[in-house]
Amino acid sequence: MEDFLVEDNPLLLPVNKHKSAYDGFISVQGRDFRIRIVLPPDQQLKQAKFYCSWQFKHLLRGYEHVVKQRLQQSADLVTFILELKTVLELRLRSLPGGCSIQPPQYYSQLISEMETLGWDRLIFIDTDFRTLKLKAEDSSARQHVLTVKLASKHPAEAPECSSDLPTSLAITWTPQSTLVQLHSQFLQVLDSLTEFWDILDEIDNKTWILEPEKPSRADTMRRIAIGNNVSIKVELDPRHPKMLPDCCLLGPEHVVTPLRAKLNANMHLWNPDSSVLLNLRDVLEIEFPSSATHEKSSFNIECGICYSYHLEAAIPDQVCNDPCCGQPFHQACLYEWLRALPSSRQSFSIVFGECPYCSKPITVKMAATKS
Ligand SMILES: [Zn+2]
Ligand SMILES: [Zn+2]
Repeated sequence: MEDFLVEDNPLLLPVNKHKSAYDGFISVQGRDFRIRIVLPPDQQLKQAKFYCSWQFKHLLRGYEHVVKQRLQQSADLVTFILELKTVLELRLRSLPGGCSIQPPQYYSQLISEMETLGWDRLIFIDTDFRTLKLKAEDSSARQHVLTVKLASKHPAEAPECSSDLPTSLAITWTPQSTLVQLHSQFLQVLDSLTEFWDILDEIDNKTWILEPEKPSRADTMRRIAIGNNVSIKVELDPRHPKMLPDCCLLGPEHVVTPLRAKLNANMHLWNPDSSVLLNLRDVLEIEFPSSATHEKSSFNIECGICYSYHLEAAIPDQVCNDPCCGQPFHQACLYEWLRALPSSRQSFSIVFGECPYCSKPITVKMAATKS
């Protein structure tokens, strides 16, 4: 029996030869709780005395009678400990986000780390003192936020970190690591992305961005307006932001085809020492409309079927290829419209039909279903 006790609870040991008292820790959900059990001379569990740490007491508040009852009714010490751990496990699970009370050294450690880092860097801390938001500025004076979820065994275990970044945030953590080191690692990551953000800031400031509507720092894609219903979608590689990005031209065929030809013919002129925006301008041989030359409303042309610009996250990116029409539609709207017409025909995922505006032939791919 005692073998089982030691096997299940290696940190709970008898304090004397007679095994009339046990002291140590039991582990539940990766957390250790201090307990002490003193048995009477007849070793009967019924008369045993049970002591525990204040965290344990806090968790068992309102459940003391359960522990008392188990102590009276359990067949032996092994069973009692097992039942005790079950009660504890259930209590831990019932608390939102697990147990919110940490040992005192957790808080003193956190305070001393924050003092070294500087309290001005802290912009948020939750009531559990587990989630922190730290601010950081990159070399181009952009503000960034690092969200840190400290482990219950901080600093022995690594915290969970997240930020609005286009790349994954790999943090090196050892039990000796501190928030100061974490913050400086974050600054290094920001430094490695400065060029990427500089390029995107230039694009955002000097052109009309159709998508995403409010780009986050993690967004690597921009759909840039070129003209009426014509745009280019570029996807930058955050690690090599100055290289030729993935480009996709969108709009009526008679406008897009010559642009695509220029892109292919001039691709070799791409100069990684120049900015992406200047390169795009040179390769496509166009001037991008900007806030200085155009109103954004001239590009936000609503869908010809639902008469709105936004349909959930989608914008009208299907355009009638007829040069006199050029009406844009949402993919989903056009697909539903054409499918409902008896004159339309479908081949695999493509529907062939007539433009609802000019009756010229138009095709649309089945809208991607949301998973
Ligand atoms: Zn629509
Ligand atoms: Zn049309």
